Amino acid sequence: MRQIRAERLLLLVLLFSFFCTLGARCLLETGRQNTLAGRRISSPSYRQDFFSPQMQKDRKLLSEECRTFLRQVEEDSVYFPVPASSLDPSLSVSYVNSWMYERNYKEKSSHEGTDIMAARNERGLYPIVSISDGTVTNLGWLELGGWRIGITSPHGVYYYYAHLDSYAGIKEGDTVKAGQLLGFMGDSGYGPEGTKGEFDVHLHLGIYSWGTGEEISVNPYYLLRSLESSRLKYQYS
Ligand SMILES: [Zn+2]
Repeated sequence: MRQIRAERLLLLVLLFSFFCTLGARCLLETGRQNTLAGRRISSPSYRQDFFSPQMQKDRKLLSEECRTFLRQVEEDSVYFPVPASSLDPSLSVSYVNSWMYERNYKEKSSHEGTDIMAARNERGLYPIVSISDGTVTNLGWLELGGWRIGITSPHGVYYYYAHLDSYAGIKEGDTVKAGQLLGFMGDSGYGPEGTKGEFDVHLHLGIYSWGTGEEISVNPYYLLRSLESSRLKYQYS
C-alpha cells in the first residue's frame, strides 16, 4: 500500500515538473515573439541580424515595418556587386561580418557596412556593378568614402558604394539597371579629394533605409552572402 502511494507521489512530481518546463518554454517563446514584433528598423538587433537565416525564418513574427523593409531589399537586390573574373579565378574577393567594428579616422566610429576585400590589391581592376535597378542619387567625393556612388532603388532602398577608383561614365540623376557597371574598385578616401592608398583596395558597401524619414543603416553581410549565388562574370585580369 505504502509503495503504491510513493509511486503515485513520484508520478505527480514528475508530471508537475514536466508541465512547469513546458510552461516556462511557452513563456520564453511568447517573450521572443513579442520582442520580434516590437522591434523597429532602428532596433540594434534588427540592424545587426538583417537578412540572416534566422530572420528569414522569423519573418512572419517581425513588425510590419521591419518585414516591409526586409521584403523591399529582397525584391530590389539582384546581383552581387563585384562580378567574378571569367579570365582569372584567382581574382577573388573576401569579406567578414564586421558590422559595428571600431574604425579610426580622426575619431572613433562604428563600421556601418561590409568591406569586400580584393585578393589582388590593385586599384582600378575589379569592376563594381549595381546590386539593384535605381537612380544615381549621389556621386562624387566624400572625405571618408572617397569616390562614392549612392543609388536609390525602386522601393527606396539606398545602396552606398564607397572607395571607388573611377566611375564608368555615369552621373547624378542617371537611371541604372541591376548588373550595370558603375565603376572600379579602389582605395580612395580618408582625406582631401583624390586621396588614395590609405588602406587596402576594397569596396565598402552600405545599405540604408529612408522609410521612416531618417537614415538608418542595416548590416549588408547576410544579404551579400545570399547574393553570391547571383554573381555576374566579367572579363578582366
Ligand atoms: Zn568599410
